[in-house]
Amino acid sequence: MKHQYLGLAVLLMLNSRGQAQSAATVAAEVDAVYPQSEALYIDLHRHPELSLHEQQTAAKLAAGLRGLGYTVTTGVGHTGVVGILKNGDGPVVMLRTELDALPVEERTGLPYASTVQTKDDNGAIVGVMHACGHDVHMASWMGTARVMAGMRTRWRGTLMLIGQPAEEAGEGAKAMLADGLFTRFPRPAYAVAVHDDARDPAGIIGYHAGPILSNANTVKITIFGRGGHGARPESTVDPIVIAARTVLALQTIVSRETSPFDPAVVTVGSIHGGTRPNIIPAEVNLELTVRSLTEGVRDHLLSSIDRIAKAEAAAAGAPREPLVEASEGGYALVNDPALTQRVAAALLRELGPRQVMDTPPEMASEDFSEFQHAGVPTLMLRIGAVERAKYDGALKSGAALPSLHSALFAPDREPTIKAAIAAEVIALRELMPPDAKAGPLHN
Ligand SMILES: [Zn+2]
Ligand SMILES: [Zn+2]
Repeated sequence: MKHQYLGLAVLLMLNSRGQAQSAATVAAEVDAVYPQSEALYIDLHRHPELSLHEQQTAAKLAAGLRGLGYTVTTGVGHTGVVGILKNGDGPVVMLRTELDALPVEERTGLPYASTVQTKDDNGAIVGVMHACGHDVHMASWMGTARVMAGMRTRWRGTLMLIGQPAEEAGEGAKAMLADGLFTRFPRPAYAVAVHDDARDPAGIIGYHAGPILSNANTVKITIFGRGGHGARPESTVDPIVIAARTVLALQTIVSRETSPFDPAVVTVGSIHGGTRPNIIPAEVNLELTVRSLTEGVRDHLLSSIDRIAKAEAAAAGAPREPLVEASEGGYALVNDPALTQRVAAALLRELGPRQVMDTPPEMASEDFSEFQHAGVPTLMLRIGAVERAKYDGALKSGAALPSLHSALFAPDREPTIKAAIAAEVIALRELMPPDAKAGPLHN
Protein backbone atom coordinates (compact mmCIF):
# COMPACT_ATOMS: atom_id res chain seq x y z
CA MET A 1 0.00 0.00 0.00
CA LYS A 2 2.80 2.37 0.88
CA HIS A 3 4.20 1.98 -2.61
CA GLN A 4 0.88 2.80 -4.20
CA TYR A 5 0.43 6.08 -2.32
CA LEU A 6 3.98 7.05 -3.13
CA GLY A 7 3.40 6.23 -6.81
CA LEU A 8 0.26 8.34 -6.88
CA ALA A 9 2.08 11.29 -5.32
CA VAL A 10 4.81 11.17 -7.93
CA LEU A 11 2.20 10.93 -10.65
CA LEU A 12 0.23 13.96 -9.43
CA MET A 13 3.32 16.02 -8.82
CA LEU A 14 4.59 15.51 -12.33
CA ASN A 15 1.29 16.01 -14.10
CA SER A 16 2.10 19.68 -14.71
CA ARG A 17 5.58 19.10 -16.10
CA GLY A 18 5.02 18.43 -19.77
CA GLN A 19 7.76 16.16 -21.20
CA ALA A 20 8.67 14.39 -17.97
CA GLN A 21 5.07 13.50 -17.34
CA SER A 22 4.63 10.25 -19.24
CA ALA A 23 7.93 8.69 -18.14
CA ALA A 24 7.22 9.57 -14.55
CA THR A 25 3.71 8.21 -14.92
CA VAL A 26 4.94 4.87 -16.22
CA ALA A 27 7.56 4.65 -13.46
CA ALA A 28 4.92 5.41 -10.84
CA GLU A 29 2.51 2.88 -12.33
CA VAL A 30 5.25 0.24 -12.37
CA ASP A 31 6.24 1.00 -8.77
CA ALA A 32 2.62 0.59 -7.71
CA VAL A 33 2.31 -2.95 -9.13
CA TYR A 34 5.86 -4.12 -8.38
CA PRO A 35 5.32 -5.59 -4.89
CA GLN A 36 2.72 -8.05 -6.22
CA SER A 37 4.89 -8.94 -9.21
CA GLU A 38 7.88 -9.51 -6.93
CA ALA A 39 5.87 -11.84 -4.68
CA LEU A 40 4.73 -13.79 -7.76
CA TYR A 41 8.32 -13.90 -9.04
CA ILE A 42 9.67 -15.38 -5.82
CA ASP A 43 6.85 -17.94 -5.70
CA LEU A 44 7.42 -18.98 -9.33
CA HIS A 45 11.19 -19.06 -8.85
CA ARG A 46 10.82 -21.40 -5.89
CA HIS A 47 8.38 -23.67 -7.72
CA PRO A 48 9.62 -24.16 -11.29
CA GLU A 49 8.04 -26.77 -13.59
CA LEU A 50 9.47 -28.51 -16.67
CA SER A 51 8.10 -28.12 -20.20
CA LEU A 52 4.53 -29.42 -20.63
CA HIS A 53 4.28 -29.95 -16.85
CA GLU A 54 3.46 -26.31 -16.03
CA GLN A 55 0.13 -27.06 -14.28
CA GLN A 56 0.70 -25.11 -11.05
CA THR A 57 2.38 -22.25 -12.91
CA ALA A 58 -0.51 -21.96 -15.36
CA ALA A 59 -3.06 -22.11 -12.52
CA LYS A 60 -1.31 -19.21 -10.73
CA LEU A 61 -1.34 -17.05 -13.85
CA ALA A 62 -4.96 -17.93 -14.67
CA ALA A 63 -6.10 -17.06 -11.14
CA GLY A 64 -4.17 -13.77 -11.23
CA LEU A 65 -5.74 -12.70 -14.54
CA ARG A 66 -9.26 -13.70 -13.44
CA GLY A 67 -8.81 -11.54 -10.34
CA LEU A 68 -8.03 -8.59 -12.60
CA GLY A 69 -11.18 -9.08 -14.70
CA TYR A 70 -9.71 -10.87 -17.72
CA THR A 71 -11.69 -13.60 -19.49
CA VAL A 72 -9.43 -16.62 -19.04
CA THR A 73 -9.20 -19.91 -20.92
CA THR A 74 -6.83 -22.63 -19.72
CA GLY A 75 -5.51 -25.81 -21.31
CA VAL A 76 -4.84 -24.17 -24.69
CA GLY A 77 -2.10 -26.32 -26.28
CA HIS A 78 -1.59 -28.53 -23.18
CA THR A 79 -1.06 -26.08 -20.29
CA GLY A 80 -1.35 -22.76 -22.16
CA VAL A 81 -3.32 -19.83 -20.73
CA VAL A 82 -5.18 -17.14 -22.71
CA GLY A 83 -6.52 -14.00 -21.01
CA ILE A 84 -8.60 -11.48 -22.94
CA LEU A 85 -9.45 -7.93 -21.89
CA LYS A 86 -11.75 -6.03 -24.26
CA ASN A 87 -11.61 -2.27 -23.91
CA GLY A 88 -13.60 -0.75 -26.76
CA ASP A 89 -12.92 -0.77 -30.50
CA GLY A 90 -9.31 -1.01 -31.53
CA PRO A 91 -6.57 -3.40 -32.53
CA VAL A 92 -6.01 -6.79 -30.94
CA VAL A 93 -2.50 -7.02 -29.48
CA MET A 94 -0.98 -10.16 -28.00
CA LEU A 95 1.58 -10.21 -25.20
CA ARG A 96 3.25 -13.55 -24.57
CA THR A 97 5.10 -15.05 -21.64
CA GLU A 98 6.57 -18.53 -21.39
CA LEU A 99 5.74 -20.86 -18.50
CA ASP A 100 8.48 -23.48 -18.42
CA ALA A 101 11.72 -23.99 -16.49
CA LEU A 102 14.79 -26.13 -17.23
CA PRO A 103 16.30 -29.35 -15.87
CA VAL A 104 19.12 -27.45 -14.16
CA GLU A 105 20.06 -27.69 -10.48
CA GLU A 106 20.23 -24.14 -9.14
CA ARG A 107 23.54 -23.02 -7.62
CA THR A 108 22.92 -19.28 -7.16
CA GLY A 109 22.80 -19.48 -3.37
CA LEU A 110 19.84 -17.05 -3.37
CA PRO A 111 17.52 -17.22 -0.33
CA TYR A 112 14.66 -18.10 -2.69
CA ALA A 113 16.67 -20.53 -4.85
CA SER A 114 14.78 -23.53 -6.21
CA THR A 115 15.38 -26.83 -4.46
CA VAL A 116 12.86 -28.65 -6.63
CA GLN A 117 13.76 -32.08 -7.94
CA THR A 118 11.56 -34.09 -10.24
CA LYS A 119 11.54 -36.97 -12.69
CA ASP A 120 12.09 -35.83 -16.26
CA ASP A 121 10.29 -37.44 -19.20
CA ASN A 122 13.00 -40.15 -19.36
CA GLY A 123 12.53 -41.04 -15.68
CA ALA A 124 15.82 -39.46 -14.51
CA ILE A 125 15.81 -37.36 -11.31
CA VAL A 126 16.75 -33.78 -12.19
CA GLY A 127 16.93 -30.44 -10.43
CA VAL A 128 14.56 -27.81 -11.86
CA MET A 129 15.32 -24.10 -12.18
CA HIS A 130 14.04 -21.01 -13.95
CA ALA A 131 17.49 -20.64 -15.51
CA CYS A 132 16.13 -18.83 -18.59
CA GLY A 133 14.27 -16.20 -16.55
CA HIS A 134 10.76 -17.18 -17.67
CA ASP A 135 9.72 -16.36 -14.09
CA VAL A 136 10.88 -12.78 -14.74
CA HIS A 137 8.70 -12.73 -17.85
CA MET A 138 5.64 -14.09 -15.99
CA ALA A 139 5.99 -11.67 -13.09
CA SER A 140 6.35 -8.75 -15.50
CA TRP A 141 3.44 -9.94 -17.68
CA MET A 142 1.22 -10.05 -14.61
CA GLY A 143 2.38 -6.56 -13.59
CA THR A 144 1.53 -5.33 -17.07
CA ALA A 145 -1.85 -7.06 -16.88
CA ARG A 146 -2.51 -5.15 -13.66
CA VAL A 147 -1.46 -1.76 -15.05
CA MET A 148 -3.53 -2.24 -18.24
CA ALA A 149 -6.62 -3.38 -16.34
CA GLY A 150 -6.31 -0.51 -13.87
CA MET A 151 -5.83 2.37 -16.34
CA ARG A 152 -8.26 1.75 -19.21
CA THR A 153 -8.56 5.35 -20.38
CA ARG A 154 -5.00 5.18 -21.74
CA TRP A 155 -5.70 2.54 -24.40
CA ARG A 156 -8.42 1.08 -26.62
CA GLY A 157 -8.62 -2.34 -28.18
CA THR A 158 -8.39 -5.96 -27.14
CA LEU A 159 -5.48 -7.10 -25.03
CA MET A 160 -4.65 -10.78 -25.43
CA LEU A 161 -2.26 -12.15 -22.83
CA ILE A 162 -0.92 -15.63 -23.41
CA GLY A 163 1.08 -17.93 -21.13
CA GLN A 164 2.83 -20.35 -23.46
CA PRO A 165 4.10 -23.76 -22.34
CA ALA A 166 7.19 -25.64 -23.47
CA GLU A 167 9.23 -22.88 -25.05
CA GLU A 168 12.40 -24.73 -24.10
CA ALA A 169 11.23 -27.82 -25.96
CA GLY A 170 10.29 -25.70 -29.00
CA GLU A 171 6.79 -27.19 -28.88
CA GLY A 172 4.52 -24.80 -26.99
CA ALA A 173 3.85 -22.10 -29.59
CA LYS A 174 3.03 -24.75 -32.20
CA ALA A 175 0.75 -26.53 -29.73
CA MET A 176 -1.19 -23.34 -28.92
CA LEU A 177 -1.58 -22.48 -32.62
CA ALA A 178 -2.72 -26.03 -33.37
CA ASP A 179 -5.27 -25.70 -30.56
CA GLY A 180 -6.87 -22.66 -32.21
CA LEU A 181 -5.01 -19.72 -30.66
CA PHE A 182 -5.80 -17.53 -33.68
CA THR A 183 -9.21 -19.03 -34.50
CA ARG A 184 -10.90 -19.60 -31.13
CA PHE A 185 -9.59 -16.22 -29.94
CA PRO A 186 -9.24 -12.92 -31.82
CA ARG A 187 -6.37 -12.92 -34.28
CA PRO A 188 -3.85 -10.28 -33.14
CA ALA A 189 -2.63 -7.44 -35.35
CA TYR A 190 0.67 -7.57 -33.45
CA ALA A 191 2.42 -9.91 -31.04
CA VAL A 192 4.90 -8.64 -28.45
CA ALA A 193 7.18 -10.46 -25.99
CA VAL A 194 10.20 -9.73 -23.86
CA HIS A 195 13.17 -11.93 -23.01
CA ASP A 196 15.69 -11.22 -20.31
CA ASP A 197 19.26 -10.77 -21.45
CA ALA A 198 22.30 -12.05 -19.53
CA ARG A 199 24.60 -9.82 -21.60
CA ASP A 200 23.28 -6.43 -20.42
CA PRO A 201 22.94 -4.56 -17.10
CA ALA A 202 19.58 -4.85 -15.37
CA GLY A 203 16.99 -2.40 -16.65
CA ILE A 204 18.40 -1.88 -20.15
CA ILE A 205 15.69 -2.32 -22.79
CA GLY A 206 17.03 -3.65 -26.09
CA TYR A 207 15.38 -3.53 -29.48
CA HIS A 208 16.63 -4.60 -32.90
CA ALA A 209 14.83 -4.65 -36.26
CA GLY A 210 15.17 -7.78 -38.38
CA PRO A 211 16.55 -11.17 -37.28
CA ILE A 212 17.43 -11.24 -33.56
CA LEU A 213 17.53 -14.96 -32.81
CA SER A 214 18.62 -17.76 -35.09
CA ASN A 215 17.27 -20.68 -37.05
CA ALA A 216 18.08 -23.88 -35.20
CA ASN A 217 18.40 -27.42 -36.48
CA THR A 218 19.63 -30.57 -34.81
CA VAL A 219 21.52 -33.00 -37.04
CA LYS A 220 22.27 -36.61 -36.14
CA ILE A 221 25.03 -38.41 -38.04
CA THR A 222 25.54 -42.17 -37.74
CA ILE A 223 28.90 -43.21 -39.18
CA PHE A 224 29.16 -46.87 -40.10
CA GLY A 225 32.47 -48.76 -40.15
CA ARG A 226 33.45 -52.40 -39.81
CA GLY A 227 34.22 -53.41 -36.23
CA GLY A 228 36.91 -55.78 -35.04
CA HIS A 229 39.92 -56.26 -32.76
CA GLY A 230 41.72 -53.11 -31.74
CA ALA A 231 45.06 -54.77 -32.49
CA ARG A 232 44.03 -55.77 -36.03
CA PRO A 233 42.99 -52.44 -37.62
CA GLU A 234 43.77 -53.79 -41.10
CA SER A 235 40.69 -56.02 -40.85
CA THR A 236 38.36 -53.13 -39.97
CA VAL A 237 37.13 -49.74 -41.13
CA ASP A 238 37.45 -47.61 -38.00
CA PRO A 239 34.43 -45.27 -37.61
CA ILE A 240 36.16 -43.39 -34.74
CA VAL A 241 38.85 -42.18 -37.12
CA ILE A 242 36.20 -41.27 -39.72
CA ALA A 243 34.27 -39.38 -37.01
CA ALA A 244 37.39 -37.48 -35.95
CA ARG A 245 38.08 -36.40 -39.52
CA THR A 246 34.42 -35.54 -40.03
CA VAL A 247 34.33 -33.29 -36.93
CA LEU A 248 37.36 -31.35 -38.17
CA ALA A 249 36.14 -31.11 -41.75
CA LEU A 250 32.77 -29.77 -40.51
CA GLN A 251 34.64 -26.76 -39.03
CA THR A 252 35.51 -25.62 -42.56
CA ILE A 253 31.85 -25.00 -43.46
CA VAL A 254 31.70 -21.85 -41.34
CA SER A 255 35.36 -20.86 -41.69
CA ARG A 256 35.74 -21.44 -45.47
CA GLU A 257 32.35 -21.80 -47.14
CA THR A 258 30.19 -19.18 -45.42
CA SER A 259 30.53 -15.43 -45.85
CA PRO A 260 31.95 -13.68 -42.77
CA PHE A 261 28.88 -11.42 -43.03
CA ASP A 262 26.46 -14.34 -42.63
CA PRO A 263 26.36 -15.53 -39.01
CA ALA A 264 26.47 -19.33 -38.74
CA VAL A 265 27.27 -21.98 -36.12
CA VAL A 266 28.02 -25.68 -36.57
CA THR A 267 28.68 -27.30 -33.18
CA VAL A 268 29.22 -31.02 -32.63
CA GLY A 269 27.88 -31.23 -29.09
CA SER A 270 27.86 -34.97 -28.66
CA ILE A 271 30.01 -37.85 -29.95
CA HIS A 272 29.60 -41.45 -28.87
CA GLY A 273 31.32 -44.60 -30.08
CA GLY A 274 32.97 -47.71 -28.71
CA THR A 275 32.99 -49.54 -25.41
CA ARG A 276 36.55 -50.82 -24.76
CA PRO A 277 40.10 -49.77 -25.66
CA ASN A 278 40.77 -52.94 -27.64
CA ILE A 279 37.58 -53.06 -29.73
CA ILE A 280 37.04 -51.07 -32.90
CA PRO A 281 33.30 -50.32 -32.92
CA ALA A 282 30.97 -50.71 -35.86
CA GLU A 283 29.45 -47.22 -35.60
CA VAL A 284 29.83 -43.76 -34.09
CA ASN A 285 27.02 -41.28 -33.41
CA LEU A 286 27.38 -37.51 -33.64
CA GLU A 287 24.84 -34.85 -32.67
CA LEU A 288 25.11 -31.29 -33.94
CA THR A 289 23.36 -28.00 -33.40
CA VAL A 290 23.25 -25.80 -36.50
CA ARG A 291 22.36 -22.09 -36.30
CA SER A 292 21.86 -19.41 -38.95
CA LEU A 293 19.84 -16.25 -39.52
CA THR A 294 18.54 -16.86 -43.06
CA GLU A 295 16.98 -19.77 -44.91
CA GLY A 296 19.71 -19.60 -47.58
CA VAL A 297 22.49 -20.06 -45.04
CA ARG A 298 20.52 -22.79 -43.26
CA ASP A 299 20.12 -24.76 -46.52
CA HIS A 300 23.82 -24.34 -47.28
CA LEU A 301 24.94 -25.53 -43.82
CA LEU A 302 22.70 -28.61 -43.91
CA SER A 303 23.72 -29.65 -47.42
CA SER A 304 27.44 -29.17 -46.63
CA ILE A 305 27.15 -31.29 -43.49
CA ASP A 306 25.53 -34.05 -45.55
CA ARG A 307 28.19 -33.79 -48.28
CA ILE A 308 31.16 -33.78 -45.88
CA ALA A 309 29.88 -36.67 -43.76
CA LYS A 310 29.32 -38.82 -46.85
CA ALA A 311 32.61 -37.85 -48.51
CA GLU A 312 34.69 -38.59 -45.39
CA ALA A 313 33.08 -42.01 -45.09
CA ALA A 314 33.69 -42.69 -48.78
CA ALA A 315 37.33 -41.58 -48.44
CA ALA A 316 37.81 -44.15 -45.66
CA GLY A 317 36.16 -46.95 -47.65
CA ALA A 318 33.25 -47.28 -45.22
CA PRO A 319 30.97 -50.22 -45.99
CA ARG A 320 27.88 -48.00 -45.86
CA GLU A 321 27.04 -44.35 -46.42
CA PRO A 322 26.47 -42.53 -43.10
CA LEU A 323 22.94 -41.71 -42.06
CA VAL A 324 22.50 -37.92 -41.82
CA GLU A 325 19.20 -36.81 -40.27
CA ALA A 326 18.32 -33.12 -39.85
CA SER A 327 15.42 -32.12 -37.57
CA GLU A 328 12.72 -29.92 -39.04
CA GLY A 329 14.12 -27.07 -36.96
CA GLY A 330 12.89 -23.75 -35.63
CA TYR A 331 12.67 -20.48 -37.54
CA ALA A 332 14.84 -17.45 -36.93
CA LEU A 333 13.04 -14.81 -34.88
CA VAL A 334 12.61 -11.70 -36.99
CA ASN A 335 11.43 -8.45 -35.45
CA ASP A 336 9.04 -6.78 -37.91
CA PRO A 337 10.93 -3.60 -38.95
CA ALA A 338 7.95 -1.20 -38.98
CA LEU A 339 6.61 -2.53 -35.67
CA THR A 340 10.08 -2.37 -34.10
CA GLN A 341 10.60 1.19 -35.26
CA ARG A 342 7.23 2.30 -33.90
CA VAL A 343 7.67 0.72 -30.46
CA ALA A 344 11.35 1.72 -30.19
CA ALA A 345 10.41 5.33 -30.92
CA ALA A 346 7.80 5.23 -28.14
CA LEU A 347 10.27 3.64 -25.68
CA LEU A 348 12.97 6.19 -26.54
CA ARG A 349 10.52 9.05 -26.20
CA GLU A 350 9.31 7.89 -22.77
CA LEU A 351 12.47 6.39 -21.23
CA GLY A 352 15.36 7.91 -23.17
CA PRO A 353 18.49 6.55 -24.87
CA ARG A 354 20.32 5.72 -21.64
CA GLN A 355 17.84 2.95 -20.95
CA VAL A 356 16.63 2.03 -24.45
CA MET A 357 19.12 0.89 -27.09
CA ASP A 358 19.64 -1.19 -30.19
CA THR A 359 21.15 -4.50 -29.00
CA PRO A 360 22.83 -7.06 -31.26
CA PRO A 361 21.23 -10.37 -32.31
CA GLU A 362 22.16 -13.63 -30.61
CA MET A 363 22.48 -17.15 -32.09
CA ALA A 364 20.04 -18.60 -29.57
CA SER A 365 16.54 -19.66 -30.68
CA GLU A 366 12.94 -19.11 -29.60
CA ASP A 367 9.61 -20.51 -30.73
CA PHE A 368 8.01 -17.04 -30.57
CA SER A 369 8.97 -17.15 -34.28
CA GLU A 370 6.02 -19.54 -34.81
CA PHE A 371 3.57 -16.66 -34.35
CA GLN A 372 5.36 -14.62 -37.00
CA HIS A 373 5.19 -17.66 -39.32
CA ALA A 374 1.46 -17.76 -38.64
CA GLY A 375 1.35 -14.29 -40.26
CA VAL A 376 1.40 -11.93 -37.26
CA PRO A 377 4.05 -9.17 -37.14
CA THR A 378 6.12 -9.86 -34.01
CA LEU A 379 8.46 -7.94 -31.76
CA MET A 380 10.63 -9.32 -28.99
CA LEU A 381 12.37 -6.81 -26.75
CA ARG A 382 15.37 -7.81 -24.63
CA ILE A 383 15.61 -6.78 -20.98
CA GLY A 384 19.05 -6.59 -19.38
CA ALA A 385 19.16 -8.66 -16.18
CA VAL A 386 22.70 -8.44 -14.79
CA GLU A 387 23.32 -6.69 -11.48
CA ARG A 388 25.21 -3.49 -12.27
CA ALA A 389 28.14 -4.21 -9.92
CA LYS A 390 28.61 -7.71 -11.35
CA TYR A 391 28.43 -6.32 -14.88
CA ASP A 392 31.06 -3.65 -14.18
CA GLY A 393 33.25 -6.24 -12.37
CA ALA A 394 33.09 -8.60 -15.35
CA LEU A 395 33.96 -5.79 -17.75
CA LYS A 396 37.01 -4.98 -15.65
CA SER A 397 38.24 -8.52 -15.06
CA GLY A 398 37.22 -10.00 -18.41
CA ALA A 399 35.47 -12.85 -16.57
CA ALA A 400 32.44 -14.32 -18.33
CA LEU A 401 29.03 -13.63 -16.77
CA PRO A 402 26.69 -16.62 -16.26
CA SER A 403 24.64 -17.04 -19.43
CA LEU A 404 20.96 -17.93 -19.69
CA HIS A 405 20.52 -21.65 -18.83
CA SER A 406 23.43 -21.46 -16.36
CA ALA A 407 22.91 -22.85 -12.82
CA LEU A 408 24.40 -19.52 -11.64
CA PHE A 409 22.09 -17.19 -13.59
CA ALA A 410 20.54 -14.81 -11.04
CA PRO A 411 18.71 -11.84 -12.57
CA ASP A 412 18.76 -8.61 -10.56
CA ARG A 413 15.04 -8.92 -10.01
CA GLU A 414 13.76 -5.43 -9.18
CA PRO A 415 15.28 -3.36 -12.00
CA THR A 416 14.76 -6.22 -14.47
CA ILE A 417 11.08 -6.78 -13.71
CA LYS A 418 10.38 -3.04 -13.51
CA ALA A 419 12.01 -2.41 -16.90
CA ALA A 420 10.08 -5.31 -18.44
CA ILE A 421 6.73 -3.98 -17.16
CA ALA A 422 7.54 -0.45 -18.34
CA ALA A 423 8.57 -1.75 -21.78
CA GLU A 424 5.41 -3.85 -22.13
CA VAL A 425 3.03 -1.11 -20.97
CA ILE A 426 4.60 1.49 -23.26
CA ALA A 427 4.57 -0.94 -26.22
CA LEU A 428 0.92 -1.93 -25.66
CA ARG A 429 -0.29 1.66 -25.27
CA GLU A 430 1.62 2.67 -28.39
CA LEU A 431 -0.07 -0.13 -30.37
CA MET A 432 -3.53 0.43 -28.84
CA PRO A 433 -3.81 4.22 -28.53
CA PRO A 434 -7.01 5.63 -26.96
CA ASP A 435 -8.05 7.12 -30.31
CA ALA A 436 -7.41 3.85 -32.20
CA LYS A 437 -9.56 2.72 -35.09
CA ALA A 438 -10.15 -1.03 -35.40
CA GLY A 439 -6.97 -2.78 -36.53
CA PRO A 440 -6.56 -4.19 -40.03
CA LEU A 441 -6.33 -7.84 -39.06
CA HIS A 442 -9.58 -8.85 -37.39
CA ASN A 443 -11.38 -12.09 -37.94
ZN1 LIG B 1 15.84 -20.84 -22.57
ZN1 LIG C 1 13.89 -18.35 -22.61
